[in-house]
Amino acid sequence: MSGRVYLVGAGPGDPELLTLKALRILRSADVVLHDDLVAPEILQLLPPTVRVHNVGKRCGVKIMLQQEINALMVGYAGSGLAVVRLKGGDPMIFGRAGEEIAALRAANISFEIVPGVTAAIGAAAAAEITLTQRHIAPAVALVTYARAGGEPATNWRALLASGATVAVYMPGDDYGRISRDLRDAGLDPETACLLVSCATTPAEQIRTSTVERLADVPPLPSPTLLVIGSVARQAADRAPAPGQAAAFPAIQQFS
Ligand code: SAH
Repeated sequence: MSGRVYLVGAGPGDPELLTLKALRILRSADVVLHDDLVAPEILQLLPPTVRVHNVGKRCGVKIMLQQEINALMVGYAGSGLAVVRLKGGDPMIFGRAGEEIAALRAANISFEIVPGVTAAIGAAAAAEITLTQRHIAPAVALVTYARAGGEPATNWRALLASGATVAVYMPGDDYGRISRDLRDAGLDPETACLLVSCATTPAEQIRTSTVERLADVPPLPSPTLLVIGSVARQAADRAPAPGQAAAFPAIQQFS
């Protein structure tokens, strides 16, 4: 008997942003393999009988190679178990889902993809900005600043010339370097930008800036998303709630 693998998006942090489908599948899983980005509050929704593995990175250090994760998924599903591969945000955005899907296909394991709210969407909601807007932002691009070795660098010039709002995943904390790269690509230094840290969680913070002044923003706690484009001008700074961080509302336990 063969099991099944579910590639499930956990959303950006707030457990209430899980889809009903994700919650149902999580509750009936035998095994959950999750990334570090998945909020602990989401893992608390799992029944105690579920076998849970953290296969993500800790402090930037990989605790498991991609091939090992693939082998774990294939092994568990091959022995008839329902396996959830749980990723922050949406599983298909900067989540190496392509490699996992290829491994599942090669092993003839059936799988299903359950979308989630990606960080750019969560960050835009947190900052109360639209990512596209008539007349000022005709498109939105999701890009990453961190690059795996050997991959070509982001073509900022082409991207920014389109007038698209650019959501930069994994921007790192060297904002000075990003500011230089963007100016070198010909971007107007007065272009608005915005950093959202821990979007949709009680630790959420928002800093508005411009491409020029980005270098002056103190590094924010990870995960952080950078949004570049005139829509960012509509946002306001927000510090985390002072003292005790607000808690997530409890999720209804429905069965
Ligand atoms: N699959 C994920 C992205 C994985 S890459 C998704 O769809 O969102 C990891 C990057 O996502 C982080 O470095 C950060 O840039 C961004 N990110 C994820 N969660 C975030 C959050 N709550 N707030 C801000 N950025 C977040």
